[in-house]
Amino acid sequence: MKFDVIVVGGGHAGIEASYIAGKRGLRTLLITSHLDLIGQMSCNPAIGGIAKGNIVREIDALGGAMAKITDVAGIHFKMLNQTKGMAVWGNRAQADKKTYRTLARKVLESQPMIFLLQGLVVGIVSEGGRASAVMMDSGEEIQATSVVLAMGTFLNGVAHIGLTSFPCGRLGEPPSKYLTESLTELGVQSGRLKTGTSPRIDGRTVDHQKMSVQHGDAKPWPFSFSSERPPENRSVCWITKSSSETHKIILSNLDRSPLYTGKIKSRGPRYCPSIEDKVVRFGERDGHTLFLEPEGLDTNEMYLNGLSTSLPFDVQVLLVHSVPGLERAEVTRPGYGIEYDFFPPTQLWPTLESKVLKNLFFAGQINGTSGYEEAAAQGLIAGINAAEKILGGELLVLGRETSYIGVLIDDLVTKGTQEPYRMFTSRAEHRLVLRQDDADERLMPIAYQKGLISKEVFDARKRVWNLKTEYKRRLFDEKISPENWNNGASASSVIRTKTQASQLLKRPEVGIDDILSAIGEEIEDREVRLGVEADIKYSGFVEKEKERLEQFRRMENEAIPETFEYQSLQGLLAESKAKLSQIRPRSLGQALRIPGVTPADISVVMMYLSKQKHVSRETTVNQ
Ligand SMILES: Cc1cc2nc3c(=O)[nH]c(=O)nc-3n(C[C@H](O)[C@H](O)[C@H](O)COP(=O)(O)OP(=O)(O)OC[C@H]3O[C@@H](n4cnc5c(N)ncnc54)[C@H](O)[C@@H]3O)c2cc1C
Repeated sequence: MKFDVIVVGGGHAGIEASYIAGKRGLRTLLITSHLDLIGQMSCNPAIGGIAKGNIVREIDALGGAMAKITDVAGIHFKMLNQTKGMAVWGNRAQADKKTYRTLARKVLESQPMIFLLQGLVVGIVSEGGRASAVMMDSGEEIQATSVVLAMGTFLNGVAHIGLTSFPCGRLGEPPSKYLTESLTELGVQSGRLKTGTSPRIDGRTVDHQKMSVQHGDAKPWPFSFSSERPPENRSVCWITKSSSETHKIILSNLDRSPLYTGKIKSRGPRYCPSIEDKVVRFGERDGHTLFLEPEGLDTNEMYLNGLSTSLPFDVQVLLVHSVPGLERAEVTRPGYGIEYDFFPPTQLWPTLESKVLKNLFFAGQINGTSGYEEAAAQGLIAGINAAEKILGGELLVLGRETSYIGVLIDDLVTKGTQEPYRMFTSRAEHRLVLRQDDADERLMPIAYQKGLISKEVFDARKRVWNLKTEYKRRLFDEKISPENWNNGASASSVIRTKTQASQLLKRPEVGIDDILSAIGEEIEDREVRLGVEADIKYSGFVEKEKERLEQFRRMENEAIPETFEYQSLQGLLAESKAKLSQIRPRSLGQALRIPGVTPADISVVMMYLSKQKHVSRETTVNQ
């Protein structure tokens, strides 16, 4: 009953944490309340999307499992934002929920060092300031060197359907009790958040004539950089809209809404609002878009994306029937809201280790996030670091300039969150250098150096990067003559002298295919072709970005010792002292991102830091 790493929770965070720890050769135990529900998608049957798709690619580059599972379990793939620049493209896939679960479990079972246990963890045991074991509801203690917690929405979960509420972790599953209390006794603070989901309907009772169909991409893009076969579209989605009748029903039933009667007290996701919120806040709109998404290939059940609600069941049925095409739809499961405990993430180091208890890591929804991808990313980093603690390597902290995962974790541990946090491209100030197509180049060198990906995978990608470099060099060297350009297919304005191919490619209206046809070249591999295009098109911005990055790095490299004493500093406001003492930023850059901490505060900290450095240098010299 002793393991290197114990992971509590078999959701998207727990899968990645245990997978990576097991891959590193550590004896890893995944304890979860229901083994058959490992990898359950609690809400919509989709992975990825704008910014979220980038996270999935980054998880893959760092040796995680989500991208590979999605490539096989996916049944409808669509690269979003293709009419915009590649910096904001985001791959999204509808997944067959059952297949996703099966594959997630298979991935874990394929690792000889991962062990699975069905059961409920009710407490954390500590010894000498570090987590040493978990306590099971059966009374057994299981020891571990590192523990990763990833219990999702289950902690003291309460579901709401209308004015009825009942304890639950997810519909049909019991909540997880006692664990929050065990953690708060150890000194960890907790809070409450809320999220919600939509009703599901029987796809046989839908009138597709009144909806428009949404096909996947003609040639789907894989999520993984090393998928063995291309993903396949095997299903379609449907698009409809709420009607004025829907809005009337909602407005006349707000007195039965747990959100509007004050029954639900916790904050929900502002950017993923319920339909009642959308109608109240944006009432003037004539309809809100709804997507019908298949829950899987061997079921008729469909997810009604955009209709998240916690109104009473009878009202939900009326709501559904008021939507064009759903007049006769049978509801198979009600939508519901759920309130649950979370632990404000400012109590964590950027490694996701607890500041309160060593060797205890927190990941996923319990850190105040929402979404499978955000959860998986944190699980992966927590798992990597839980393993590094044992292996004695350097813990992994990804910078904001390296990845969306870096942005996610830095935001959480520096700013905390008042509502379920989800990722957007706008949260990443360096987004031009965080494209979904180059996540491998950004992160695989780190992953390989840390032993998270194999030499074969790394070498295969290196060949792709070399190919891209070669083509880019060609386009920088090659000049196109006016005869070849002006008579070609491109609608771009004429040139009078020989012009560098890369220069022409930077024109917004010119694509890589125009250039290739003008120089009589072909790049067969679509990924390489578009990668070359994006690298050249963005090269000007990237150069400018590099200057900003340099400034950013200077601040990030100015480290603040973990034990730095803020209370005695003169010239700092009491409020700033309290914030800095609570967050204990690891660098001046992180300190500056704490809400309410001003550049003036940073100057004071900088002054004391350089004084300290000076004193310690003098002490060393005098010794
Ligand atoms: C009603 C609802 C609505 C949602 N709506 C959205 C949405 O609109 N958009 C969105 O992006 N995301 C939504 N989500 C969130 C999404 O499901 C989560 O973000 C994601 O699944 C979190 O992953 P996780 O690994 O942190 O937790 P989960 O996927 O919830 O997994 C938690 C795991 O922990 C296990 N567990 C819990 N307690 C214990 C214990 N004590 N001992 C052992 N095992 C335990 C559970 O069995 C489960 O396997 C919603 C979730 C719910 C429930």
